[in-house]
Amino acid sequence: MKGYSHTKEEYDLLFYYAPISYLILDKDCFIINVNKAGALHLGLQKSKLIGTHFSTFLDSEVYQSQFYNFRTEIIETGKSGQLEAVIRRGDGSTFFALVDSAVIKDNQGNFKYFFLTLGDITEQKKQEQKIALALLKEKELNEMKSQFITIASHEFRTPLATILSSAELISKYSHEAEKDKREKHLRKVTTSVQRLNEILMDFMSVKEIENEIIKNNPLPFNLHAFIKDVINEVKSFNGTHNLIYKHHGNCTEAYLDTKLLKICLTNLIINSYKYAPDGGNVEITTEHYLPNTLKIIVRDYGIGIPIEDQNNIFEQFFRAKNAENIQGTGLGLSITKRLVNLMNGTIYFESEQNKGTTFTLTF
Ligand code: ADP
Repeated sequence: MKGYSHTKEEYDLLFYYAPISYLILDKDCFIINVNKAGALHLGLQKSKLIGTHFSTFLDSEVYQSQFYNFRTEIIETGKSGQLEAVIRRGDGSTFFALVDSAVIKDNQGNFKYFFLTLGDITEQKKQEQKIALALLKEKELNEMKSQFITIASHEFRTPLATILSSAELISKYSHEAEKDKREKHLRKVTTSVQRLNEILMDFMSVKEIENEIIKNNPLPFNLHAFIKDVINEVKSFNGTHNLIYKHHGNCTEAYLDTKLLKICLTNLIINSYKYAPDGGNVEITTEHYLPNTLKIIVRDYGIGIPIEDQNNIFEQFFRAKNAENIQGTGLGLSITKRLVNLMNGTIYFESEQNKGTTFTLTF
């Protein structure tokens, strides 16, 4: 309106009732004024806020020192700026704030005070974190895929070459007298196909675990029957090993997801075969004394795991130095560990190079 001039009262009301948090701080960052939204944001009454140092509302020393540097820069440059920080309200709750700051100067152009606005950006930060996490997962997945291609092409080569050469030889051994040779090469074909299948199963399991498709569905089962079933399945992988099963304890019933347990135990037994290439005993022991936990132990007398590799053995794609000449993807143990954890169990091992290895699952 022409001739109308705004009164100080109007500006005071505008400041106090504005829907944005306003704070005015002195040079040392003590609060000298705050509006209604600001007091609500900080969770204290205006009278309690005035005279309080602003950094007491910053959630950690990191934010406090960031704010100190921010303040120094603003005083020095006279320019406005922004800072993201976690603010702890008077009631102890926190929120992520965007602190916007401007410098108010006196008539001579000297620093008079800070003018801060606080915006709650907690939701935005949560979304940012979600996106960052999804990106990280995607990156890991991509790395895994390329590692998979490298390993698959390497690991598939040997069994495929064996199948090819055995198939050629089988076609040549056509006489009855060559039956033994034919059978030997047929066994080689079967073992190679099993190996390929094993590699594919490993990769399928990783994918299913990654996508959280695998669920833990525990049911009561009989330990003896279960171990017998597993032993039957791994028989065909056996070279010259002697598989021994023993049970200790007063209970042979257990309550676990046998589908998942089978994957774990099969992995451990096949490893025992692979990493004891000269054969020998592989011992499976179950230990179940009620009311104690159930233990499943797989022991071999093979090449063992070098002490310097023992810390990494459960990492995806990791293979110990002494395993270079034995086929493998470095996936079995990482899958086993994740499945055992999914079943609320733990896995640990003891190993000595050239003496052997013992893996223990505890539920
Ligand atoms: P893979 O056997 O396909 O390489 P695993 O994840 O099952 O993958 O095992 C990871 C590594 O741990 C193996 O490459 C091997 O170096 C070591 N390892 C696992 N089990 C045994 C074992 N019973 N004896 C010796 N080394 C083992």
